[in-house]
Amino acid sequence: MSRFYDRIVSQVRTLTPYQPGKPIDELQRELGLARISKLASNENPLGCSPKVVAAIEQALPNLARYPDGNAYYFKQKLAAHLGVQPGQILPGNGSNEVLELVVRTFAGPGDEVIYDQYAFAVYPLSTRAAGATGVAVPAKDYAHDLSAMADAITARTKVIFLANPNNPTGTLFDTATFEQFMQRVPEQVIVVLDEAYYEYVQVADYPDGLDYLSRYPNLLVSRTFSKVYGLAGVRLGYLVGDAEIIDYLNRVREPFNVNTLAQVAGMAALDDKDFVAESVELNRDNMAWFTAALSTLKLAYIPSSGNFVTVHTGADTARINQSLLQQGVIVRPLTGYGMAEWLRISIGTRDELEHCVDALQEACRV
Ligand SMILES: *Cc1c(COP(=O)(O)O)cnc(C)c1O
Repeated sequence: MSRFYDRIVSQVRTLTPYQPGKPIDELQRELGLARISKLASNENPLGCSPKVVAAIEQALPNLARYPDGNAYYFKQKLAAHLGVQPGQILPGNGSNEVLELVVRTFAGPGDEVIYDQYAFAVYPLSTRAAGATGVAVPAKDYAHDLSAMADAITARTKVIFLANPNNPTGTLFDTATFEQFMQRVPEQVIVVLDEAYYEYVQVADYPDGLDYLSRYPNLLVSRTFSKVYGLAGVRLGYLVGDAEIIDYLNRVREPFNVNTLAQVAGMAALDDKDFVAESVELNRDNMAWFTAALSTLKLAYIPSSGNFVTVHTGADTARINQSLLQQGVIVRPLTGYGMAEWLRISIGTRDELEHCVDALQEACRV
């Protein structure tokens, strides 16, 4: 096949790369379009807080120095914000990094990692890269089936990934369901609760993972600055859990995994509560507006608790996606998730969503 194929470790040979949303520049180069709306990666359409920009500017003269490898001030500040101890926090180069560290630390060849059929792509990727076996549990109405996931636990199970809300489906499970699930999980099995969209959730019965940490030392909660804080480009996320587990993970991570700009950006972002509130409010209003428009277009969608919605575009999805791109609207096809008839669309500004609705109308007219 190639000169190096034989030398690549077997679990890496069969990996397929993570498919990111098409960058705006790339589409602009290809089509020369003036107006492009990128609604493919669940980014914050407001950008980030001006306080973050100021903090980054202030840090720029110090780039010759290595970052604080322990992210001391960031962890202090985040710990106070969350009401946990600094030793319970593992910051990462995006939450992606900490999710992968969990798999590498707890699972290897012969071990099993459980996740939902429509799980975030990073879980199966990290599992396979570690040489462990992924167990994808069928979803129920596109949502996690937590009782089936508990049934799937075997003596080989090392890690279980849950995303609440889930990406790409936007579905949620409630407190009672989560509680019942945790009671069924043996304490030697690690549960990772991915709360990347935590701040967007509006329902009262939403289980906040941090509330369960003292009762379940095998629970780890991940969150990110990539979504509501609008910092996807600086790469900052974190894991919260039992201090002993965090200590082990800390030994596996790269010494300088979180760069200086990410650390100062994260601290400034925590200070701007108004920015978060404004972002959540915009998302709620625009979600309501956009889903109403989808109904008018007679397009079905999965009700979502995140900052995106997954829309049923049917057998014609590939053509519709192509038409949207031609019209300057970038959304996320879900073929890689086994949802070939669906497109995931991020909740942008009203202007971007109007662009998207017009383009969908045009694309579906044929
Ligand atoms: C976006 C997202 C993340 C965040 O990834 P980062 O590496 O922090 O940018 C994590 N989990 C899920 C389910 C997501 O959708």
